[in-house]
Amino acid sequence: MRINKYIARCGEASRRAADELIQKGKVSVNGKVLKEPGYDVQEGDEVRLFGRVITPETKNVYYLLNKPIGYVTTTMDKEGRPTVLDLVQAEGIRLFPVGRLDYNTSGLLILTNDGDLSNRLMHPSKEFPKTYRVRAAGTVTLNDIRKLENGVDIGGFITSKAEAKLVRHDKNSTIVDLTIHEGKNRQVRRMFDALGYPVQELERIGLGNLVIGRLATGSYRKLSKEEVEYLK
Ligand code: URA
Repeated sequence: MRINKYIARCGEASRRAADELIQKGKVSVNGKVLKEPGYDVQEGDEVRLFGRVITPETKNVYYLLNKPIGYVTTTMDKEGRPTVLDLVQAEGIRLFPVGRLDYNTSGLLILTNDGDLSNRLMHPSKEFPKTYRVRAAGTVTLNDIRKLENGVDIGGFITSKAEAKLVRHDKNSTIVDLTIHEGKNRQVRRMFDALGYPVQELERIGLGNLVIGRLATGSYRKLSKEEVEYLK
């Protein structure tokens, strides 16, 4: 396996970032700083990154979690808040979440130890549509539904085409299903804010053709082989 892929498989960096680490002399193989970016890792090689031995996960696992609100999607939190990893039993497996959901957002989140898949999924060229169920304060008009679809200025950035469906008007709020094809920081909240409807509840219900379905909040399940293939 080519060295940059090997490093990505260890969950340490994307392939491109791995190439840079190699160039900077941070990678050694069998005690010698690696000079050859195209090096093919052989069985028995000892690969070190920053002097630390790294080994790829032998078995990849893929989970779909229904994230509750009140959890961060990083692997650690400086403020000591619970992380999504606290919800999953994966003894000895170094799992990480793919992408982010806000602390106050619930719903579909992929967790894996497959660094390569994670890096690819995060790449803009491989952006899967993400569908959110939004409860926003106020009565969202059909005119504003159209604006959500056509692009909104969220502060120096116009969002690209999206699909928005008005699900229903409640007493003082509106439920909208919004599918976006990009993932700027806090994008959905900023889109609704821009139109004057603060988001009250936000749940991710779909990622490409994966859906949260009836999975209970805080529960997770393994992705099927077909689902993993689809994401690859
Ligand atoms: N958009 C947001 O505003 N928050 C999320 O958590 C996800 C998408």
